[in-house]
Amino acid sequence: LFTGIEVAAPIEVFHMNKLYLDSTDPNKVNLTIGAYRTEEAKPWVLPVVREAEKKLAADDSQNHEYLPVLGFEPFCKAAVSLVLGADNAAIKEGRAIGVQCLSGTGSLRAAAEFLGRVLNYKTAYMSKPTWGNHNLIFQNGGFTTVSAYRYWDAASRTVDIDGLLADLEAVPLKSVVVLHGCAHNPTGMDPTQAQWKAICEVVKKKQLMTLFDIAYQGFASGDPDQDAWAIRYFVSQGVEMIIAQSFAKNFGLYNERIGNLTIVVNDPSVLAGLQSQMSLIIRANWSNPPSHGAKIVHMVLTDPTMKQDWFDAIKTMSSRIKDMRAKLRAKLEELKTPGNWEHVTKQIGMFSYTGLTPEQVDYLVKKHKVFLLKDGRISVCGLNSKNVDYVAIAIDDAVKN
Ligand code: PMP
Repeated sequence: LFTGIEVAAPIEVFHMNKLYLDSTDPNKVNLTIGAYRTEEAKPWVLPVVREAEKKLAADDSQNHEYLPVLGFEPFCKAAVSLVLGADNAAIKEGRAIGVQCLSGTGSLRAAAEFLGRVLNYKTAYMSKPTWGNHNLIFQNGGFTTVSAYRYWDAASRTVDIDGLLADLEAVPLKSVVVLHGCAHNPTGMDPTQAQWKAICEVVKKKQLMTLFDIAYQGFASGDPDQDAWAIRYFVSQGVEMIIAQSFAKNFGLYNERIGNLTIVVNDPSVLAGLQSQMSLIIRANWSNPPSHGAKIVHMVLTDPTMKQDWFDAIKTMSSRIKDMRAKLRAKLEELKTPGNWEHVTKQIGMFSYTGLTPEQVDYLVKKHKVFLLKDGRISVCGLNSKNVDYVAIAIDDAVKN
């Protein structure tokens, strides 16, 4: 019954992470996985998350009953407010709802199934390049065409805005376009506000179904409002949309699988049908979501003191990353490593798209035990004061050889 199962290619990021873990080299450096690390290269439980966990543990009214299918509603409300801004007209006018899902991935998967099954969308466009999981989620979610729009200009290491706009102009009617809300993965380069405005114009003109994926709100700039600028601009322009929010990175709640799907519509009377159909999709996937992460995020976002502590924590993370970008670039420039390294500090968020070739990446992994992805993406979180010079010297060697 089980014969003939083809062995699929390994998932690159987990495969490289495992190679790092298996390596016995004392100098090894892990720049693979997108997870925050401290100066000591350790995972970080945000102090305010610990505090929330202690409060929950001490609260005897908490239990392990099922949450409703669409999740813990107070959490969903807080998540919608976070992404749209509490005073957004869409919230005030009852045109925005939240549905708790399994982190960013589950939110995207539920969105794909909903768009495919309920609204009959079959074609979706992702940026090229994009996060490695986007295509798979939409293919498995029932989309028959998962295609790409130009995003990256490798020569100038900036957003290829002309290519992007031309490609969106040319997509067939009834297409979904997936946009990264901030801190584009893997390039770390977002459109400027003027470019977002131009993208919004095409989206409106072509009546594209917009799906914003925002997995790094607050993590990119240190300011959750600034990171939601593009989404809020589109909403202000009357664009209806779905937003997949992840709380993995900005709350450090990676394995709690806490996410939210925010849906913004123009006519609130469609929401009853939408919620009922979404319930069926979730019922058939995970039936109802886990509660721990939802309770933490809700508590932190609705208590002013805890919220301030969260702001401080995301500033700590984003500042450390910015500092590491500056140190890496400075060392590469000091070493006179061939090429221009400005992009290392221009890019934002967890990742830097270094521009290293697959051969140079291979060299770095084999010779220096610096682990990164084949497309040259590094997670800047893996850098710290102790290893940043080592990494720069290794990159220098790889580029010069
Ligand atoms: N979207 C993007 C662009 C991401 O980078 C990530 C995390 N790597 C996600 C979504 C979702 O991750 P998770 O399912 O862990 O929330």
